[in-house]
Amino acid sequence: MKLVGIYGASGFGREVMGMLGDSSLPNTVFAFIDDASPNAKVNDYPCMTWDAFLKKKADERSVAIAIADSGSRQYLADRCKQEGIGFFRAHAESAIVFDKVDIAEGSILCPLSTITSNVKIGSHFHANIYSYVAHDCVIGDFVTLAPSVKCNGNIVIEDHAYIGTGAILKQGKPGNPLVIGKGAVVGMGAVVTKNVPPGETVIGNPARPFRHD
Ligand code: UDP
Repeated sequence: MKLVGIYGASGFGREVMGMLGDSSLPNTVFAFIDDASPNAKVNDYPCMTWDAFLKKKADERSVAIAIADSGSRQYLADRCKQEGIGFFRAHAESAIVFDKVDIAEGSILCPLSTITSNVKIGSHFHANIYSYVAHDCVIGDFVTLAPSVKCNGNIVIEDHAYIGTGAILKQGKPGNPLVIGKGAVVGMGAVVTKNVPPGETVIGNPARPFRHD
């Protein structure tokens, strides 16, 4: 029996289980892993601690980390690696991937997400429902696209950046991409027309730095 753990039994984890749990993969059992959830079952699937997941009898084990927070994702990816556990490629049947797309381990492509042509994506990428990444983009590790993100062509998104729901990123140029810096946050509905520096949060149309007063 192959055991697939969906790490995180909260909002996103339940969505990812909803998209995968019915997949008729032969000899495969899906379960949630959660460090906090006291429930033995979540949405009718078993929910267990990490230790219980490691102890459960199985011929093979893999994990999809379905937690939007990229820091948690990195911490748990390291935990999996320390135990020699690989990552389940959680791609919805309706996700579309065109030519010459290179996606590293641990990706989650939700229903109706699209990656077009000549795109390179790092590890533990999340593309939530209806989001797209167009041609010639380069995306780092632990990047998160919330629902309906429009990432147009020739854009670089660095590690740990978070792009909020419905944001639109303006197309860059070959050799002069639009760059979303490491750990930057793009607010929901923002229209990004210029580079966003590392660690910056931008909001609005056109997107500007968000400052607390
Ligand atoms: N979680 C965990 N281990 C961690 C970090 C998070 O088991 O190291 C679980 C946490 O208990 C919660 C889920 O992951 O159930 C994250 O849920 P949250 O609502 O914060 O995020 P989302 O589901 O929206 O990504």
